[in-house]
Amino acid sequence: MSQVVCTGITKRYGDAGALSGVDLTVNDGEFLVLLGPSGCGKSTLLRIIAGIDGQDEGSVAIGGAVVDNVHPRDRNVAMVFQNYALYPLMTVRENLAFNLKIRKTPPSEASARILEVARILGLEEYLERRPAQLSGGQRQRVAMGRAMVRNPRVFLFDEPLSNLDARLRAKMRSEIKSLHASLHTTTVYVTHDQIEAMTMGDRIAVMKNGVIEQIGTPQQIYFEPANLYVATFVGAPEINIFRGRCDGAHCIVGGARFPLPANAPRDGEVLYCVRPHDLEVAGKEEDGALSAVVELVEPTGGFLIVHAAVGGAKIVLQIPHDNASSPALGKDFWFRAASDKIHLFAPETGMRLL
Ligand code: ADP
Repeated sequence: MSQVVCTGITKRYGDAGALSGVDLTVNDGEFLVLLGPSGCGKSTLLRIIAGIDGQDEGSVAIGGAVVDNVHPRDRNVAMVFQNYALYPLMTVRENLAFNLKIRKTPPSEASARILEVARILGLEEYLERRPAQLSGGQRQRVAMGRAMVRNPRVFLFDEPLSNLDARLRAKMRSEIKSLHASLHTTTVYVTHDQIEAMTMGDRIAVMKNGVIEQIGTPQQIYFEPANLYVATFVGAPEINIFRGRCDGAHCIVGGARFPLPANAPRDGEVLYCVRPHDLEVAGKEEDGALSAVVELVEPTGGFLIVHAAVGGAKIVLQIPHDNASSPALGKDFWFRAASDKIHLFAPETGMRLL
């Protein structure tokens, strides 16, 4: 049982608040991602859970016991950082053994544990090498191995993949996820990368300026964002945002009339938002079709990213690459938004209306 419960965590550095009254429960065995831009307080929260930093207010409990006065060493949590922090003059085996030695683990137990972790991480044949003789991915695995040998109650990852190139990052992403699927260790994973968050997290906590804006499954965060900030932070290309006015069954944006679903407000100002892949090319006569002029086309392989002008506004569409009917630069085309895929937010507060 290694649930992590943070209650009312507040942290200030001088006059600046890094965290303001953060409540967060990470369930036993869960993989929870803290997602947000640089400086929003993710690492600070992680360090407070680890006990490396102290909070000004609030409390942290691990496994049902408050740990505010427990030394980081005795919290039985293990942290993995982006700069692997391996000892360069030690072999992989010695790096893995280091924390066990400090804890005075009996040598026979330590070597059995090291072999087991090396086997899980595919590092058996590299045990006698030094970090400089390893690839970036192997070094990252050793860093994880150092955390794993201790058999911690909780793994804390602080942007562990941000030093790796894109291909390796994708590979390590799936490795960490598979590892979690077999170990089931409660995990808190910090990243600013929405793809990492969406692909790895059981749940995601989206943060901004020291507060959690929304906690939910990747599907909830993506399909039911609580506010405009969450809607724009997750999803690439970014969600289209138009300020418009509801008028019966339509939202009027400049000269364009976007159809609204039946449960939308019938009047008032809104932010009408639609993700680029929820737009599709349509026939001129189709219900709800709008005309646009293509300003830029970016081929990405299977998809085209089309930047277009519609009723005085700019819009981005992500559509399948189809040579016969793809919109072409400078040309008019017709498109429609599936009305059940749109999002409406209140202009003043950014809170979700629909
Ligand atoms: P993130 O991990 O989301 O990038 P951090 O938790 O590192 O953000 O930082 C949150 C805020 O706290 C930032 O404004 C940062 O500048 C500030 N901060 C973090 N650590 C310190 C520190 N040791 N001293 C002063 N300010 C700090």
